[in-house]
Amino acid sequence: MSVTELVYQKCIRPDCGHTLSHDDTSFACPKCNGLMDVLYDWDRLPVPKSLKEFEKAWQTRSNPLDFSGVWRFRKLLPFVPDEKILTIGEGQTLLQKADFIGKRIGMDAGSLFLQYEGMNPSGSFKDNGMTAAFSHARMTGARRAACASTGNTSASLAIYCSATSQMKGIVFVGSGKISYGKLAQALDHGALTIQIEGDFDDAMHQVQQMAKRLGVYLVNSINPFRLEGQKTIMFRVLESLNWEVPDWIVVPGGNLGNSSAFGKAFLELKALGLVNRLPRLAIINAAGADTCFQLFNHDGLRWQGGCWDKTIVDRYYRQLDESKRRADTLASAIEINRPVNLPKALRALDAMDGVVRQTTDQEILDAKAMVGAGGLGCEPASAASVAGLIQLRQEGVIAPSDRVVCILTAHQMKDSAATVAYHGSDPKTFEEVLGVRGVRRANFANRPVQVSNDLEAIVRSIEIYS
Ligand SMILES: *Cc1c(COP(=O)(O)O)cnc(C)c1O
Ligand SMILES: [Zn+2]
Repeated sequence: MSVTELVYQKCIRPDCGHTLSHDDTSFACPKCNGLMDVLYDWDRLPVPKSLKEFEKAWQTRSNPLDFSGVWRFRKLLPFVPDEKILTIGEGQTLLQKADFIGKRIGMDAGSLFLQYEGMNPSGSFKDNGMTAAFSHARMTGARRAACASTGNTSASLAIYCSATSQMKGIVFVGSGKISYGKLAQALDHGALTIQIEGDFDDAMHQVQQMAKRLGVYLVNSINPFRLEGQKTIMFRVLESLNWEVPDWIVVPGGNLGNSSAFGKAFLELKALGLVNRLPRLAIINAAGADTCFQLFNHDGLRWQGGCWDKTIVDRYYRQLDESKRRADTLASAIEINRPVNLPKALRALDAMDGVVRQTTDQEILDAKAMVGAGGLGCEPASAASVAGLIQLRQEGVIAPSDRVVCILTAHQMKDSAATVAYHGSDPKTFEEVLGVRGVRRANFANRPVQVSNDLEAIVRSIEIYS
C-alpha cells in the first residue's frame, strides 16, 4: 500500500496492523489471517460538518445515488467513485414507533422503535451490504460473485446480479437448511445455486476455499466493504430520530456483521465529531447458536484493545467439535456457531458498552407474533431482537424510559412455514415444524377458524369471534 491512498484496508489487530490496498479482494490479513477494516484518510476527504447536511440529499432524489438509503450517506463510506456504484434503491426503510409492543413489556409510550429492514428490495437488511460489496466488486473488475448463506445473503446476491446484469452469482447453501421463500429468490433471480451436504458453517468454509482458488469475488460479511454499506442502517436510525442518539440498539447476532458495522459506524461518527455519545448495544443470539453469548458472558472474552485472547476462542471451537454440537434453531438466519466477525463484534461491544443475551425459539416465535400483530411482519431471526429486549426489560438492564431501537432484519414472507405452523390449528403441523425444536405453546396464536360451507354457520362464527 502506498501512504498516499485515501482509502485502504488494515488488519484490525493493532499488534499486527498489516495494510492492503483498497482494491485487494482477499478479505483476510496475509500476515495473521485476521479480519480487515476499510479505513479512510479523513484529513484529506470531504467530511460533513454535521449530520443534518445529509438532509440536502432529499431534494435531489431523482439522482439514484441520493435516493438510495445507503448512498445518500456516501461521504461516510467514500471508497468508490460515483460512476462505479451499483444501486437498486435499497435502504428505503422505516423507523416505526412500536407502542403496541412497548406497552406490553412495560416501556413508556414513545420509547420503543423498530427499524424495519424488511422493506429492502430483496426483503432483508443484506441489501445495504450487497450494494456496497457489488460496487467494490465492479471497481475491481470482478466477473463472478459468491457467498455462503442461510438464505438472505443468497437472495440479495441473486437480485443484485440479475437487476444490474453486472456479474454471475454463485450461492452456497446448506442442504435442507434454507426456507423456501429465500431459496425461491436465489433460483428465480438466476443465481447458480450449490446445495452442500452440511450446514452454514460448512458452506462458509467451502466458499472461502473456492473463491480463493477460482478468484471469485466473495460477498459474505467477512468482506469489509459489505460492512461499510451496513453502517448506513445506523445513519438512517439517527436520521429518523432527528439525529438524536438513542439509548440502545438491539440486534440479532448471527455472523455478527451488523453488530460489527454498527460499532464501526458509531466509532467513526464520534471520531469525526458528528455525534457526542454512543448508544449501548445488545446482541441477541438464539439459544441453539449462542457462541457469542457463551464466549462473552461465560468465558470472559473481551476486545482488550484489539488483543483479544485467541486461545479462549480456539478452546471453545474445539469443545464444539468434540461434542459434535451443531447450531440448531428455528431462526435459520442466525443458525451459526462460528461467527466470522466475532472480533469486530467484540470491538463494537467494547465501544458501545454492550451486552449479549440468548433467547429460545419459543421466546422468538412469541415475540415474532407480537411484532406481526403490531403491524410489521418479520421472520423468526429478526424477532430475536424483540425477544432479547423483553429479557433485558425483565432484568431491569433496559429502563422503561430508555429510547430503544430493535432491528427487524427481514420480512415476514421470507419464512412462512414457521408462521403458519405457529398460528395454525393443526397440532400435527405444529409438532412437525416447531415441536421438534422445543416450541410447546403458541402464546399469541391467531387461529384460523374452520367453518362448514354454510352461510348460517359462517355468520355464527363471525359473531362469536369478532
Ligand atoms: C443475516 C441475518 C441475520 C444475522 O445478521 P449478522 O450480521 O450475520 O449477525 C439476522 N437476521 C436476518 C433476517 C438475517 O438475514
Ligand atoms: Zn493481521
